[in-house]
Amino acid sequence: MPDAMDAVQADVDARIADALKRHQATATTRRPGLPACEQLDCGEPIEEARQRLGARLCTDCQREEDIRAHQYAPGRGR
Ligand SMILES: [Zn+2]
Repeated sequence: MPDAMDAVQADVDARIADALKRHQATATTRRPGLPACEQLDCGEPIEEARQRLGARLCTDCQREEDIRAHQYAPGRGR
């Protein structure tokens, strides 16, 4: 069934193109950071330099977030 295969391939192509477009959109439209930490029970002020980089967490919360991300990252088992 060459027609069915073409339809599947076209669908995959469209999905990849869509994902690529969305990725480029997020890369170009820089999301500004927040003036204060996003954590509800924190609210620490965020340095302007970090805000410009799109920081949404204070350094302490960011570090915790990084540690958490590393712990759950796949393929890091010993
Ligand atoms: Zn914080």
